[in-house]
Amino acid sequence: MIYLDNAATTRPCDEAINAAAENMRNNFGNPSSLHKAGIEAEKVLKNAKKTILGKLGLEGEIYFTSGATESNNTVIMTLPKTYKHNGKKIVTTAMEHPSAAVPIDKLCEQGYTAVKLAPKDYDNFEQAVINAVDKDTVLVSVMWVNNETGYLTDTAKIYNGVKRRNPKTLVHVDGVQGFCKAPPRTLKADFVSLSAHKIHGIKGIGALFVAKGVRFEPLLYGGGQQKNLRSGTEAVDLIAGFEAAVKAYPDCTEKYAALNSLLCERLSAFEGISINSFNNTKNILNFSVRGVRSEIMLHFLEESGIYVSSGSACSKGKQSGVLAAFGISDENADSAIRVSFSPYTTEADIEALAEQIGKGIERFRR
Ligand code: PMP
Repeated sequence: MIYLDNAATTRPCDEAINAAAENMRNNFGNPSSLHKAGIEAEKVLKNAKKTILGKLGLEGEIYFTSGATESNNTVIMTLPKTYKHNGKKIVTTAMEHPSAAVPIDKLCEQGYTAVKLAPKDYDNFEQAVINAVDKDTVLVSVMWVNNETGYLTDTAKIYNGVKRRNPKTLVHVDGVQGFCKAPPRTLKADFVSLSAHKIHGIKGIGALFVAKGVRFEPLLYGGGQQKNLRSGTEAVDLIAGFEAAVKAYPDCTEKYAALNSLLCERLSAFEGISINSFNNTKNILNFSVRGVRSEIMLHFLEESGIYVSSGSACSKGKQSGVLAAFGISDENADSAIRVSFSPYTTEADIEALAEQIGKGIERFRR
């Protein structure tokens, strides 16, 4: 199998699997228990928090969640409880993942307004986000790296500009696709959502980073774990796997740049290819193959064991519309392919992919 769909999910690395298995076998205590087994389990949480904070390079707290969907929902859906006097305007983008976009729409049904900015409309996207903030803006929610195109947003620049305009406005970053991949200097926020399964951790574990001094209300009520802010027995084994995955993720900046230019070069040999990614982290490349629908190409590649994604994330056959935020036409969105690399991706994988795309074009182009 040549797996090139790492923005969807990743193969858990041996380090993560081993750490999780080790804890399941030998460290299965409940971190809330007062005895030694509990204390040993609690140590796993403490160490994992330290590792994740170190990787983020930010000062604050880590709360473990079931994944980024829960982290995003926690920040957005609890705004009316925590910050009801800070205004009812949300500044966000037209490229957000549904796990942020849908909760924001839900708040709009409850009297909030959302301004959704599209990268295609601005030369300086970060400045446009900053300029949209006013005294009524309670939250800015932007993703760090877009999951469909790899578009990179400098959230540190946004954070600094937003705080100058309105110090009360909170900045939330969906950091799922940037974590361990994008330059850390482009990250600053009050809240950051993370997910382990995009970095070779295990599915079902994520985190919410909360900056020092920033309050939030819990989404879930119950046993009062994690300082009463995220009830539920902590998933110690998955958390151990999450930490191991963070530690194991190598710096692939150069590797991804090389794979990306190799793929672009190979694609440029075919007619009718348009590249949909710009200003992107190099681990994701989105392109359209004129005259061949995404699903047709995806399943053709699958026949030779190559796994990619249709370039426009689909839900029940409906396009997400995110590519339109980058100025991609409907026709190109229909034929878009997303390729996403991992530290395990090789040049031979890219050569095989390019060869098959060439064959697919010959066979299916109308
Ligand atoms: N945000 C982004 C940008 C994502 O790509 C994903 C996963 N597709 C999520 C949030 C949701 O993460 P999880 O699967 O951990 O809920």
